[in-house]
Amino acid sequence: MTAAVMANEATVRAAALPAAVAELAGCSFSALADDDLLDVLRLAERARRQLEALDSTLIAELEARNLAGRYVLRGTRQLLSGLLNLSPAESSTRVRQARELGPRTGLTGEQLPPLLPAAAAARADGILTGRHVEVILSAMARLRAARLPVERQVDAEAFLVEQAARFDAGTLRGIARRLLDTLDPDGTLATEQAQQRRRFLSCVPDRDGMHRLTADLDSETAALAMTVLHSLAAPKPMCAGERDERTAGQRMHDAFRSVLKLALRAGELPVSGGVPATVLITMTAEQFQAGTGLAGTSFGQRLSVDQALRMADQATIAWIVHNSTGGILGYGTTRRVASDRQTLALIARDQGCCFPGCTDPPEWTEKHHVIPWRAGGRTDLDNLCLLCDYHHDRIDTGGWQVTMRDGVPWFVPPAWIDPARQPQRNVRP
Ligand SMILES: [Zn+2]
Repeated sequence: MTAAVMANEATVRAAALPAAVAELAGCSFSALADDDLLDVLRLAERARRQLEALDSTLIAELEARNLAGRYVLRGTRQLLSGLLNLSPAESSTRVRQARELGPRTGLTGEQLPPLLPAAAAARADGILTGRHVEVILSAMARLRAARLPVERQVDAEAFLVEQAARFDAGTLRGIARRLLDTLDPDGTLATEQAQQRRRFLSCVPDRDGMHRLTADLDSETAALAMTVLHSLAAPKPMCAGERDERTAGQRMHDAFRSVLKLALRAGELPVSGGVPATVLITMTAEQFQAGTGLAGTSFGQRLSVDQALRMADQATIAWIVHNSTGGILGYGTTRRVASDRQTLALIARDQGCCFPGCTDPPEWTEKHHVIPWRAGGRTDLDNLCLLCDYHHDRIDTGGWQVTMRDGVPWFVPPAWIDPARQPQRNVRP
């Protein structure tokens, strides 16, 4: 068979691929037996993975021909990005995978096996997902950099491929980390130093008043963050007929906010600019009286006056009310913030969030004014109750009413939860 015919065969077979997928997608799956449906899913997944292996073979061929150079492009990455509309990051990943897992061409044009032959073979068999491949490549790159003897690198590759066939990529990452810690303990220290150099966090304004938090956390910070945030981000148990409708991402966001509020309440933040760390909120007299509009913070964020006033119930929030020319009409006073003794008394009485069914302990609660202080409600035990961040946010908007009876808070549910609107209490064992 001549080379031209071979090439033509590749084109014909490649053209048949999308058609085969379209034909399969056009099949009716509803009549399939369960086992057959699972088989189809397994086979489709295997083909997807095999296609990724094919991708590396093709990219290796592009590189061997220096096709990018012929089109006066800087490299294969730019060629892929232009040809396939891939992001630079996606192109880089594919080129890196092709270099490690695709066939290689020697100086005299002879075909050489891939740098990582075991991983390449498993991938061509449809055993490895793209994430498995990334874990194996980064582990092997580190062993190579550590100048581990080649035989031991071969063993390590075989071991990781074997584990990849049994576990998902996340588990494989843990296995690879333990393997690296054993084979290259010094590398772990080097990684720690690199982590310290790379650590980074920023919070910058985005569109629509939202802010984008980006971070590269070192292992210790990540461990602390995950431990604290995960425990706080669990869905609230079904409370008094209401279920927690937040997405996982929204729950993580709210957990983060709870941590920051705790830090403010703790009053142990380092002093910045000569005064204790304080969120400074400004609003106009009209906004203050009407309870509507947007207040500003000293960092330029805008938040609703309602939210601002609720924040102002907490210990280290200062607020300023000014008139239209900027004259200060009023400012936050300690009278509105519960004293330490009041806080202890509230904790003794409420033992945590007092919304019916909520189990949040006192550390995660805020003080809620039953009659808002703006409406003349006083900062007395008779007018305060502890609410977690989640319930503090929803108590006014969710149609619930809080009333004090014999010095303890009762919650009157909205009619859609209880048509009789029987008051409820959070009874803790
Ligand atoms: Zn609660």
